[in-house]
Amino acid sequence: MDDVREQIEFDVLFVGGGPASLAGAIHLMKLAKSEGLNLEVALIEKGADIGSHALSGAILNPIALKELIPDYREAGCPIETDVRGDEFYFLTRTRRYGVPLIPKYMHNKGFHIISLSKFVSWLGRVAEDLGVNIFPGFAGKEVLYGQDDSTVIGVRTGDKGIGKDNTPKTNFEPGIDILAKVTVFGEGPRGSLFETISKKLKIFEGKMPQVFETGIKEVSQLPETNYFSDSRGNDIHTFGYPLGLNTHGGGFIYQMKDHRISLGLIVGLSYQDPILDLYEEFIRFKRHPFITELIKGGQVIEQGARTIITGGYYTVPELAVGGGLFVGSSASMLNAPALKGIHTSMKSGMLAAEAIVEAFSKGSFTKEALGYYHQLFEDSWLKKELYVGRNFFQAISKKGLVKFLHLGAQYLTGGRGIFDKMPIEEDSGTLASLKDVDSQLAAGYEKQTYDGVLFVDKLTGVYLSKTQHREDQPCHLIVQDPNLCVNECFETYRCPCTRFCPGNVYELEIDDKTQEKRLKLSPSNCLHCKTCDIKDPYGNIVWICPEGGDGPRYTVV
Ligand SMILES: Cc1cc2nc3c(=O)[nH]c(=O)nc-3n(C[C@H](O)[C@H](O)[C@H](O)COP(=O)(O)OP(=O)(O)OC[C@H]3O[C@@H](n4cnc5c(N)ncnc54)[C@H](O)[C@@H]3O)c2cc1C
Repeated sequence: MDDVREQIEFDVLFVGGGPASLAGAIHLMKLAKSEGLNLEVALIEKGADIGSHALSGAILNPIALKELIPDYREAGCPIETDVRGDEFYFLTRTRRYGVPLIPKYMHNKGFHIISLSKFVSWLGRVAEDLGVNIFPGFAGKEVLYGQDDSTVIGVRTGDKGIGKDNTPKTNFEPGIDILAKVTVFGEGPRGSLFETISKKLKIFEGKMPQVFETGIKEVSQLPETNYFSDSRGNDIHTFGYPLGLNTHGGGFIYQMKDHRISLGLIVGLSYQDPILDLYEEFIRFKRHPFITELIKGGQVIEQGARTIITGGYYTVPELAVGGGLFVGSSASMLNAPALKGIHTSMKSGMLAAEAIVEAFSKGSFTKEALGYYHQLFEDSWLKKELYVGRNFFQAISKKGLVKFLHLGAQYLTGGRGIFDKMPIEEDSGTLASLKDVDSQLAAGYEKQTYDGVLFVDKLTGVYLSKTQHREDQPCHLIVQDPNLCVNECFETYRCPCTRFCPGNVYELEIDDKTQEKRLKLSPSNCLHCKTCDIKDPYGNIVWICPEGGDGPRYTVV
């Protein structure tokens, strides 16, 4: 197939159409113009459209946007509402308690509530107007290296029209080799190309491992008279129920326009209990009396899930390799205490753009030349934000009340805390085996009832994400050893993939007669959140991009 592959050459290629890449591409075009540089820039996105795979809370701190597009309101930036005030509650099973002192990193007054999908789609149009060649529906499948086998020279996009049996069908279209002097990887959390480069070029040497949370989120239409009808705070965060204090995470509800709300639950993937089911926890959150009252009379209109990078400063990899740069969530650019990664991702993309312009002016794209990006990062407000939260994940992932001791100490010492550089364990290593865990969930979850309107089951949630995959294609979820799943993993953890996947991709089938077990996969349900690739305790599941254009088709989340 290689001899029929088309090659296209650009100066700069951005992989992924999220806030990091798009802000980077926009800033690059503007800077290049002001420097009199004529750059050919391309951006590929695996979603069918720019914004189809964008899911977030989302409260936008506009600091980076103001730098990028100072007149963003006049320029048509889609803002749902502005934050009027914050509400923060500790939830028990039946009650809520207002937290009297909301930490300052959670003060969002004046920030904007947006739909990330709409926001990113708008950034895409701005980038296109500036001359960026945007290719939605193209998944980067393989990193291309130069003769030295360590300089990135571009990306091969995935073939289309390969059947389940791995042979080309009549609709076969070979992937394209997109070559570039600089390739910027902005694939978001757990990028599949980023994973291969990080192993090959060892960009995490001496760093802590990246860690993640998974957020399940939906947008609901509420009746005209609702909780937010008066002028109270329109940005609500909760902690406590249903996760308790041993699993970190919490809920959020943000007011959008036209009586819509954005509601979600975030669960730290460092959790230990193998029986924990992310979707069940999400529904339990919605069943809390406070939340149930708040969403009364509403209807879920879109749902989805995505992972969030949370490790912070000590998990930032080397930011440059020969011919390549890493931006956004792929490079751990998220302010974890504030739960905000949009502005930090945008800024990292913009700093990368500045380093690229410098590299073009010098005509050098080596690791050292592009490493100027790291220096720009270290001198920026972005580094300061990440540095203050450098031990935050380590504190919140502690069990019980001890986390508050660490958090308090960090709050008073500018992030240093009781001791600095607290260690981090990879999420795949934190599950306790069934026999060792005192699981409150051991007996399973109470059976839920779903009305299909305000409380929807997992499969309806997948339907509401508008996820589609062409059926006749090789499975993009590689289970390397299926026997390991039904034997050792079943015995030790009862196949936790069937519970941590929010898309119902993994199901355990047990034959009534023979008791033979089989892990059944429905890859067409996959929401591209990548939780399975991260949390599988054996590293037995590998997530690779399916055909470009497949996956969720978010429009408002
Ligand atoms: C539930 C939830 C709530 C959140 N709340 C907030 C909030 O309130 N405020 C805030 O600031 N942040 C929030 N975040 C975090 C924020 O969404 C991220 O930090 C931010 O979107 C990261 O931007 P990014 O460009 O790095 O990656 P992403 O937004 O993930 O974009 C990456 C893009 O790359 C594409 N892609 C990936 N791999 C490939 C490939 N190989 N080829 C082609 N395309 C590819 C993906 O489809 C995606 O469109 C939240 C996140 C979640 C999940």
